[in-house]
Amino acid sequence: MKFISTRGSAPALSFEGALLAALADDGGLFMPESWPQMSPDEIAALAGLDYADAAYRVMSPFLAGDPCLNDLEEVLSEAYDGFHHPAVAPLAQIGPNSFVLELFHGPTLAFKDLAMQVVSRFMNRALKRRGQRATVVGATSGDTGAAAIEAFRGLDAIDVFILHPKGRVSDVQRRQMTTATEANIHNIAVEGTFDDCQAIVKALFGDRDLNKRLGLTGINSINFARILAQIGYYFTSAVTLGAPYRPVAFSVPTGNFGDIFAGYAARAMGLPVQRLVIATNLNDSLPRALASGTYEPQGVIATSSPSMDIQLASNFERLLFELAGRDSSRVRGLMEELRARGSFTLSQGEFGQLCDLFSAHSAGEDVTQMTIRGVFEETGMVVDPHTAVGIAAAQQEPGLGTTPMVILSTAHAAKFPDAVRRAIGIEPAQPERLTLKLGSEERCTDMPADFATVVDFIVDHARADAPLTGAEA
Ligand SMILES: *Cc1c(COP(=O)(O)O)cnc(C)c1O
Repeated sequence: MKFISTRGSAPALSFEGALLAALADDGGLFMPESWPQMSPDEIAALAGLDYADAAYRVMSPFLAGDPCLNDLEEVLSEAYDGFHHPAVAPLAQIGPNSFVLELFHGPTLAFKDLAMQVVSRFMNRALKRRGQRATVVGATSGDTGAAAIEAFRGLDAIDVFILHPKGRVSDVQRRQMTTATEANIHNIAVEGTFDDCQAIVKALFGDRDLNKRLGLTGINSINFARILAQIGYYFTSAVTLGAPYRPVAFSVPTGNFGDIFAGYAARAMGLPVQRLVIATNLNDSLPRALASGTYEPQGVIATSSPSMDIQLASNFERLLFELAGRDSSRVRGLMEELRARGSFTLSQGEFGQLCDLFSAHSAGEDVTQMTIRGVFEETGMVVDPHTAVGIAAAQQEPGLGTTPMVILSTAHAAKFPDAVRRAIGIEPAQPERLTLKLGSEERCTDMPADFATVVDFIVDHARADAPLTGAEA
């Protein structure tokens, strides 16, 4: 399987190549050249498998002919061994036909662990094979950074620089990142928003010289490997609820559009997904696009679900590529329009296809709080604000008949204790693995949202040129 750029002018790469490059040379995002198909029998056969085994069956066709295929079984078994629930991604029922998919049983209590634990292991093995070092630079609105630092800390061949918007991540999120003591981990607090952080990272990737010099690689959901490792739980949850014989709908708390794009991928592979609901907080550029056909990101608003405080959803470009019939010149045109004018408008055909599968709803702060309270009163379950946005969006969706609705629960309530306390008056119970983390000393460097300042720091601290000794490799 080869991976091609949404912008059409970068060379196609193997999975391993796309994994390490993260972003294509032409500024586009990697996509599989075609979607592997799973037959109804193959989907039905996922029932009852261990999560790692089911993920293997979903992911392996993308790795056909790639050196990473030999790593896959071990990578998945190691990655999910560290989870605190034997099912890895269990379902809980919260209403007659509505279910919460718990994706927070990993080491940092957010769904990003499901992919990051896999990606770090793939990268480490690939670099060892090549005798190379790499520098990971990532922007985070909170959870990506924590999950990345947890997954990469202590790896000799990889230095990690994580940019987060200063003061805009929760205390728990910040401490999960800044208490890592390993020398290969560097936290940068940027005086700006997540979009500012992401712009710096994108500019860095766009600089060929620096890119090469640092051996840059990215772990944001622009990396297709992240998306790939998120397809599995769409299959396992749907099969639990009756797929392939019964369709399923998903409501996905959305920021950068990576997670919900994995749901799109599952459907493209043959899973009967009736509807994908894009759930956003007040940062509603996607719900506005689904109402009008015009995508026009605005300024970022800080909310109680900070991991979704994003207006410019990078992975939306992947969906555009699909809506445009994989016409990369059309994607280039739309992205150029977005850059030059701050917006673009879909054609009638593109917009029609978008609305056939996707809906989008935004939940304000009051609705988010009321939803946390409502779920607690009805079921005793304590959900975090991101999950609450997903539930609120599902509730705004007109009836889907007998189709079950799965709401992705993307974070554990204990990550956002203040918002939860405001809603229900009690603190969520804190899992021990979190308590242990939060006591230690913090390490972080503050910086203006200035490309040159951030780059200087990275160049000074990355070990890209140092030889990788046999012992380290
Ligand atoms: C990252 C994150 C999201 C958004 O996921 P995207 O793939 O960026 O759309 C939602 N909720 C939580 C808790 C997250 O950490």
